[in-house]
Amino acid sequence: MRVPIVAGNWKMNPSTLDESYALAHEIVSQDTGNSNTISVICPPFPTLKTVKELCQNSYVKIGAQNLHAESSGAFTGETPPEMIAELCDYVILGHSERRQLFAEDDKFIGAKVSKSLELGISPIFCVGETLEQRDSDLAYSVIEAQIKSSLSAIPTNKMQQITVAYEPIWAIGTGKAATPEIAQQMIAHIRDCLKSISNDFTASQIRILYGGSVNAANAASIASQEDIDGALVGGASLKAEEFLNIIKAFSSI
Ligand code: PEP
Repeated sequence: MRVPIVAGNWKMNPSTLDESYALAHEIVSQDTGNSNTISVICPPFPTLKTVKELCQNSYVKIGAQNLHAESSGAFTGETPPEMIAELCDYVILGHSERRQLFAEDDKFIGAKVSKSLELGISPIFCVGETLEQRDSDLAYSVIEAQIKSSLSAIPTNKMQQITVAYEPIWAIGTGKAATPEIAQQMIAHIRDCLKSISNDFTASQIRILYGGSVNAANAASIASQEDIDGALVGGASLKAEEFLNIIKAFSSI
């Protein structure tokens, strides 16, 4: 059985340390834990240590929003992956904002996935197509290429530690979530792609999340889809009550 994950991607929010701690505290104090769902919050780097302390003795897991592929060296502005491994259980990799704004390509993202697995951090590997690609009937081939280019070199026995997040770029931050049917169809395709680079059993164990304008109102219909194993949540993860209601929707399935 694939236990769902609901992960909150805080991005570059909130603006101050105190606001971050207050949000983490609000979530942690109300998340009563549920064996049906794993809750993850991914705050900005400078808050990770304190947020981890706030989450101690709670059910909430911590994720980072990025990870460099090299262990150390002359990479101004980057954070040593081993430091992140001391603080985090999960890391978001290949988010479309990293791909588009920071020119991360499939090969580099694949190297980051390998590094996270080497350090025992579970990667949440994001894929997604633009609206133009969907309108040109390229969505399925774009997603397949992203998966195969980044994950083909990962040994099959490590694949189950990866969580994939399908995040259509046209749905991120737009308030226009994919319909549950569109999300289900693409996620079933993603599972087929994973089979082709591992095997049937491994692909059946890998969690695949949907992300893109998930909120408390649409979470239950997304959660009801057969292949959808959770959500990666941006904007709605910054409101504790809304985020907790999304977790509840996935826990009730
Ligand atoms: C995201 O950026 O990962 C995301 C899903 O954002 P939002 O929920 O705001 O669309």
